[in-house]
Amino acid sequence: MFDLAVAGGGPAGLAAALAARQRGLTAAVADPGQPPIDKACGEGLLPDSLAALRALGVDPPPSAGFPFAGIRFLSRDAHVDARFPQGPGLGIRRTILHQMMADRAAQAGVKLLWRRRVTGLSSRGLILGDREIPARWIAGADGQNSRVRNWAGLESTGRVQPRFGFRLHYLIEPWTDFMEVYWCDGAQIYVAPVAHNEVCVVALSRNPHLRLEAVLPRLPALHARLKNAPTSSAERGAISIVRRIPRVASSRVALIGDASGSVDAVTGFGLGLAFRHAHSLAGALYRGRPDDYNTAHRRLMRRPALMSSLLLTLDRIPLLRRRVLNAFREHPNLFETMLSMHVGEISAATFTRDALLPLGWRLLTAR
Ligand SMILES: Cc1cc2nc3c(=O)[nH]c(=O)nc-3n(C[C@H](O)[C@H](O)[C@H](O)COP(=O)(O)OP(=O)(O)OC[C@H]3O[C@@H](n4cnc5c(N)ncnc54)[C@H](O)[C@@H]3O)c2cc1C
Repeated sequence: MFDLAVAGGGPAGLAAALAARQRGLTAAVADPGQPPIDKACGEGLLPDSLAALRALGVDPPPSAGFPFAGIRFLSRDAHVDARFPQGPGLGIRRTILHQMMADRAAQAGVKLLWRRRVTGLSSRGLILGDREIPARWIAGADGQNSRVRNWAGLESTGRVQPRFGFRLHYLIEPWTDFMEVYWCDGAQIYVAPVAHNEVCVVALSRNPHLRLEAVLPRLPALHARLKNAPTSSAERGAISIVRRIPRVASSRVALIGDASGSVDAVTGFGLGLAFRHAHSLAGALYRGRPDDYNTAHRRLMRRPALMSSLLLTLDRIPLLRRRVLNAFREHPNLFETMLSMHVGEISAATFTRDALLPLGWRLLTAR
């Protein structure tokens, strides 16, 4: 009998098991894959995501990836950038991160059941084909299309807004220590340095057929940089979804990571959110009060949901985007304040007072 049995051994599932072990709870994880599991991702860990990962006992050295100092937005007419107030984030290949987390989980005494798919829930625990894993609590960490969510009756409400991402790695020395977000009509590209000789490039759009090679020519300077660089991975696609789940825990089953709801990929929040969910869930289970996780989860989703809708609005309305980027260029402190809110250094109220209201005023009075 385990205290916690986790369906899904991606970053969220491993984080849930690690946080449970830190509280002295026993934990098992089952996943049909085996480390290192790859997935299309922008591969940028924001500074607060990195801190939440370190608090789980996984501390990637800078040499495991490439530290980045801040975020740069680039469009045809303007570019703006700002540094993180609390030190760098880390670009890191998804496979390296997953292997580090899986190794740490093995060391911490998590029972790891790789190449085993969860096929159902029973009154005693998780069902894996002909085998049962008995557990007091179950965590569904089985990603966007969570079956556990469905089995436990914790389904989402409202609209799901998909965008489609395609990722490719290029062997090229990073030309900057910023993570770059390029805006063009109909798509976005973001570039994260992930090693001293490699960058990860993701194209995101609402068109499921718009691959990276079709978006790159819309950004001539980036296209020219990458044209002769060899690729170092196969192109992979993934869907980015904005999904809100009102209730993420029942008395026995809790959802975590993308299974528990998600914000748009361009925010770079997904991994950090999963790590923070893990800390909150373990605390709630340790206290024997799984319902506390519902409250904590709602609080954790607030800032990412706000940033996600702001960034998606800029994506949808090119005229607004041009004006906002121009305002950021003329008043760099507004962009710095937005980034501080993004990485959790200031509250939403301070952000509204110091950036959103002045920005709104500048947009209204701009000629
Ligand atoms: C294009 C794109 C770019 C992104 N860029 C970033 C970024 O730069 N920074 C960031 O922080 N986040 C980013 N994200 C978000 C991030 O990738 C996700 O939030 C993160 O992968 C969520 O982890 P997870 O463990 O919840 O889900 P997943 O990584 O999807 O893992 C789910 C796991 O569950 C397993 N599973 C599925 N079904 C079963 C089953 N029946 N039984 C057992 N196991 C099962 C799967 O095999 C998988 O290993 C991006 C997302 C996209 C789509």
